[in-house]
Amino acid sequence: MEQNKDLSVKGRIFDIQQFSTHDGPGIRTIVFLKGCLLRCRWCCNPESQEYAIQTMIRNGKSETIGRDVTVGEIFETVKKDLIYYRRSGGGLTLSGGEMLCQSDFSLALLRTCKNYGINTAVETTLSTPFDMIEPLIPYVDTFLVDIKHMNSAKHEEFTTMKNELILQNARRVSAVAKRFVVRVPVIPGFNDTPEEIGAIAEFAKSLKGVEEMNLLPYHRLGYDKYVGLGREYKMGDVPSPDKDKMQSLKSVAERVGIKVNIGG
Ligand code: SF4
Repeated sequence: MEQNKDLSVKGRIFDIQQFSTHDGPGIRTIVFLKGCLLRCRWCCNPESQEYAIQTMIRNGKSETIGRDVTVGEIFETVKKDLIYYRRSGGGLTLSGGEMLCQSDFSLALLRTCKNYGINTAVETTLSTPFDMIEPLIPYVDTFLVDIKHMNSAKHEEFTTMKNELILQNARRVSAVAKRFVVRVPVIPGFNDTPEEIGAIAEFAKSLKGVEEMNLLPYHRLGYDKYVGLGREYKMGDVPSPDKDKMQSLKSVAERVGIKVNIGG
């Protein structure tokens, strides 16, 4: 009965990508949800941040961003690639935006997939109260959690939100999650120092059950979307960190005693 009810739960998404090899193991279908509580200056999906359906200019054409769907509709798409998930260990990933902004929809979709034997992952900042996260935990195989900065004032300056709740949630979720990966967007002028990456690695190492940390180099791929939305791109002309810089930050984090990947 619960399963039937789940299929009719409504949510708002802005994209679905099939055959992705990012954001979780194997071949995956990634569902991008609308809405986020943060406003990170470097966000490469600015069209995800507002829950409202928007218009964006892309390649000179006006495009509607966001559509309302049911869990049942999305599940039909996710199910199509079952054979690839089985061969590769892949499955569904919820991304955004912040999937916790639509926690009822996320729960219903994750539960539907798990009941069908599909692997699940979520990409999240854990920026909501814990009681919105807790019901999802049994239905998530991999939590991919962004930890952006250990200093709360700096975190707020660059993302508009302090970090205390995020760090507290990371401690609580990692203690019970099946798999928990810390992801760090490496942002020039924000957290790209050995001291800061070392501090985040120390935090990641202190979390129960966390074995892996991913460093994600900043890129400018979202720039055109800001233009298309009529918004200012606050990162200006800041270049991406080069390979040597990423390697040296990786070494810093590895010295803390945690497995580190660049990308992921
Ligand atoms: S948390 Fe993610 S989706 Fe939200 S503003 Fe930051 S980078 Fe964008």
